[in-house]
Amino acid sequence: MHSFEFTRPENAAAAITVAGQAKTAQQGADIRFIAGGTTLIDLMKLEVETPARLLDINRLPFDKIEETPDGGLKIGATVRNSDLANHARVQRDYSVLSQAILSGASAQLRNMATTAGNLLQRTRCVYFRDIAMRCNKREPGSGCPAITGSNRTLAILGTSDHCIATNPSDMCVAMATLEAMIHVEGPKGARTIAFGDFHLLPGSTPHRETVLEPGDLITHVTLPPPRAGSRQVYLKLRDRASYEFALASAAVVMNLTGGTISYVRIALGGVGTKPWRSPEAEAVLTGKPAIAGNFRQAAEAALRNAKPQSENKFKIELAKRCLTHALQTAANG
Ligand SMILES: Cc1cc2nc3c(=O)[nH]c(=O)nc-3n(C[C@H](O)[C@H](O)[C@H](O)COP(=O)(O)OP(=O)(O)OC[C@H]3O[C@@H](n4cnc5c(N)ncnc54)[C@H](O)[C@@H]3O)c2cc1C
Ligand code: SF4
Repeated sequence: MHSFEFTRPENAAAAITVAGQAKTAQQGADIRFIAGGTTLIDLMKLEVETPARLLDINRLPFDKIEETPDGGLKIGATVRNSDLANHARVQRDYSVLSQAILSGASAQLRNMATTAGNLLQRTRCVYFRDIAMRCNKREPGSGCPAITGSNRTLAILGTSDHCIATNPSDMCVAMATLEAMIHVEGPKGARTIAFGDFHLLPGSTPHRETVLEPGDLITHVTLPPPRAGSRQVYLKLRDRASYEFALASAAVVMNLTGGTISYVRIALGGVGTKPWRSPEAEAVLTGKPAIAGNFRQAAEAALRNAKPQSENKFKIELAKRCLTHALQTAANG
C-alpha cells in the first residue's frame, strides 16, 4: 500500500478545514475521512484509492441515535451498522432499515461499518477494483470494458454508455423508502440533502457519485416520524444465502386502509446505478386494492426502462419477482 499521513482531528471544524483543501471529494480524492474503513482500506490495498492524508473521524461526537423533536430519528454518521440495525426504535418503527442492514455483509463487518461510510460505499464492478483494467469511473475517459465484458452483476437501471456499475448498498435502498435526509457540514456551512438527490447517475461523469464537495463531512442522517401501522419489508435475492451482495432487492413501506393501498414507498437494490426509488411503481399502487395482479403491474412499471447487458437480462424478471413477492409479503402483514 502507498504511504499516507494519518491524523485524528480534534473536532468537526478541524476535520472540515483540512479536508476542504482536497482537490476533489470524488474518485481519487487526495484527502479522505476514514470511519469503519471497510470500503476505503480495501480500495487502498488495491490502489484504487491512494489518498495522501486520512482523517480519522471515529472520535468525533457522531455516534448516537436520538429522537428528533417531531418524533423521527437522528442517526449519527459514525453509528455502526450493527447498532443501528439492533436499535429498539429502528426495529419497531423502521424495520425495513433493520432488515436491510442485517441482510448485508457479515456481523464483523457490520460492527465496523458506519452510517456515512455505508452511504458512500463503492461499486463491486471487477474492472473498477483492478487497476490493470480500463474504467471510466476510476480513470475518466479510459473506457468501460464491462459493457462488452463481465456484467452479470451490474446495473440495468440508470446506466449510461460510460458506466453500468451497480450501487451495492442494502441500507441505502431502505433509506430511500423512508425518505431519509442527509446532513452535511462543509467549508461553506451546513446543508441538508434529500436522500434521492444525494447519489448521482453516471451519465458522462461516472467518477462523480454523489453531490459531496471537498471538505463535506456527513454528520448525521434523519428519518421522518414513522408512519403508524406501516408494513415494512426488505427482500434480498443473491447467489448464496449470506455474505453476498444483492442481484436484486426490494424495499417496501406500505399502509393499507381496508384492502386498499393508501400509502406506499418502493425502492430496488442490486439493479440500479444508484439506490433505485420507483415512483412509477408507487403510482400504479396508490389507491388500488392490495392484490397480486396490481403488484405484478407495479413491478412491470418499475422495470419498464430497464436496459440489460449481455449477461444480466435475467435481472429484469428477477427484480420483478423480487418486488412482487416483497409487496405480497407486506400486504399479508
Ligand atoms: C466483504 C464485504 C462484504 C460486504 N457486503 C455488503 C452487503 O452485502 N451489503 C452492503 O450493503 N454492504 C456490504 N459491504 C459494504 C459495507 O457495508 C461498507 O464497506 C461499509 O458500510 C462502509 O462503511 P465504513 O464506515 O467502513 O466506510 P469507510 O471505508 O470508512 O469509508 C467509506 C467512504 O466514506 C467516506 N466517509 C466515511 N465517513 C464519512 C463522513 N462522515 N463524511 C464524509 N465521508 C465519509 C470515506 O472517506 C470513504 O470514501 C461489504 C463489505 C465487504 C468488505
Ligand atoms: S461499469 Fe463503471 S465501474 Fe465498471 S468498468 Fe465500466 S466504468 Fe468502470
